[in-house]
Amino acid sequence: MAEIRCEECNYKAFREDKAGVNRWYCKNPAAEFARSECEPTPMICRTKRHSKELTIKTSPKWCPFRRKHISNKEE
Ligand code: SF4
Repeated sequence: MAEIRCEECNYKAFREDKAGVNRWYCKNPAAEFARSECEPTPMICRTKRHSKELTIKTSPKWCPFRRKHISNKEE
């Protein structure tokens, strides 16, 4: 199975910050458990200043697709 990559996923959402360090979030409802108290949806990564580039190569450990893959392997 190919590795899950946020870059290719429709659930990723970009948010620009006035301070220049932008953020990517995950809008997958199954990932809500991974959000912090301060964020409405879990954060995937911060960008470099004034960039839109994802700074994660694949996906976070809490990604619902990744978790499903792991549990499928254990069955
Ligand atoms: S964490 Fe998983 S579900 Fe969320 S955007 Fe990345 S690949 Fe998609």
